[in-house]
Order: sequence, then C-alpha cells, then structure tokens
Amino acid sequence: PAKPIFVDQLPAGLQKISSIIAVSSCKGGVGKSTVAVNLAYTLAGMGARVGIFDADVYGPSLPTMVSPESRLLEMNPEKRTIIPTEYLGVKLVSFGFAGQGRAIMRGPMVSGVINQLLTTTEWGELDYLVVDMPPGTGDIQLTLCQVVPLTAAVIVTTPQKLAFIDVAKGVRMFSKLKVPCVAVVENMCHFDADGKRHYPFGRGSGSQVVEQFGIPHLFDLPIRPSLSASGDSGMPEVVADPLGEVAGTFQELGVCV
Ligand code: ADP
Repeated sequence: PAKPIFVDQLPAGLQKISSIIAVSSCKGGVGKSTVAVNLAYTLAGMGARVGIFDADVYGPSLPTMVSPESRLLEMNPEKRTIIPTEYLGVKLVSFGFAGQGRAIMRGPMVSGVINQLLTTTEWGELDYLVVDMPPGTGDIQLTLCQVVPLTAAVIVTTPQKLAFIDVAKGVRMFSKLKVPCVAVVENMCHFDADGKRHYPFGRGSGSQVVEQFGIPHLFDLPIRPSLSASGDSGMPEVVADPLGEVAGTFQELGVCV
C-alpha cells in the first residue's frame, strides 16, 4: 500500500478542501452511492461548496445518478490536470466520465487510477468533498484512505444481522486509520403499506452497531420507489423532493459530517 501523504505534501488539487467525507459500505448494492449523492446535494443545498468523487472504478454509479450537461472530464493540457464536470453546482469526478468502457484492471492498477483521478483534479475551493468509496475493506480502500486525509466516514448498511459483521469490519478499518466514523446509515429499513410500517429485514442491528462501537449517530432510510427512480433519472431525491422525509434525514446527516 502507498505511504500516507502528509498534509503539507498534499497534491495541489486537494489543498483547498476543508473536509473530505468517505461514504463506505462493505458490500455492493446497499445504497452507498445513493447516500453519497444525496448527502452531497444536501450539503450544497445548505450553501456549502461541494464535490463528489466516485471512487468506484468497477461500477461507477455517479453518471446514472446525476445528469450533467458534459459527461466527459476535461483536461488542462498545460497543467496536466483534470477539470471536474458539474451538475446543479456540485463538482463531479467519476471514472464513468473518463470516456472509457467498463474497467478490467487488477487491484494495484485500480489504486493507481483512483489516486490519479483524485489527486490531479483541480477541485478548487470546497467545503466538502464526498468520496463514494469502492465497496469493501481491501487494499484498494486502504490505499485510498492513506493517500487522502479523510475528515470523517459514514458507513452505509442494510438492517440484516449478517450486515453487522461487515459494518464492524468497516469501523475497524477507519479506526485503524484514525478516521472517525460519525454515522451509520441503515438503508432499506422499512416501508409503509396498509397503514402499517413493515421491517422486512428485521430490526436492531443498527442500534447494536452504535452501542458496540460508540458511533454517535444512526439514521434509517426507508425503501422508497422514489429513491430508486430518482437514482435512475439523474435527479437526486433531495433535490426532487426537498421537503420530503428523506431530505429531512439527509439534513440531519449533513449536520453531523
Ligand atoms: P451501492 O452504491 O451500495 O452499490 P446504490 O446506491 O447504487 O448502491 O443502490 C443500488 C440500487 O438500489 C440503486 O438502483 C438505487 O437506486 C436503489 N436504492 C438504494 N437505496 C434505496 C432505497 N432506500 N429505496 C429504494 N431503492 C433504493
């Protein structure tokens, strides 16, 4: 793994970012990208200058979840830097905007590509950079965490008992790296039907995580067709429905990071 970079050696592109927030999960499909994108647009809605870095090289979701006019990253040929694309005021960098097909790469190559995309980007002045981490806690994730000085991590999971073991792994990885986990988001927790609230995956593993690891905040997100539809349509839910229940939850999360 790469050696940690100290703050005074930070690549120029990252020097003017106040907080770098990792959104992480231990497996795919739990809603990590949904949380990263909605968190970023919530922070932007609160007046912050925000960027999203989609570090998921194998399955970049950002190009589906937002709809910027330009879907290709531009290069500054003199400085050899990358200029982010933008949608509704949020700066965006994703491998999915790099103009290549699906990646077939080995781990060390992936780390190289991620680090290059992240560190040669001209982010400019940002209050928050939200990093949509690749799922898992392997070498790619470790290297990324060592190259980038993370301010805080948010862990996304689903309520099943089994997911608890995965969350524990994530918390341990960040604590080894001295990055505080500020919140756990339990996604797809419940849905309302027939006048009742249903918990299809059971309850209680989120609060177990919070108790056992001393994580200060736990948030529940419901299963919502609109969350899935907004993800597919390129318009984040918190932008489409700024006064809804989901937007309210993201505002509470936005205050914690
Ligand atoms: P990950 O980044 O963990 O792989 P995504 O955020 O891409 O997961 O979510 C996977 C799929 O599930 C997407 O199609 C997304 O729109 C959908 N989804 C995520 N969270 C919810 C939710 N709470 N309700 C309904 N659909 C959801």
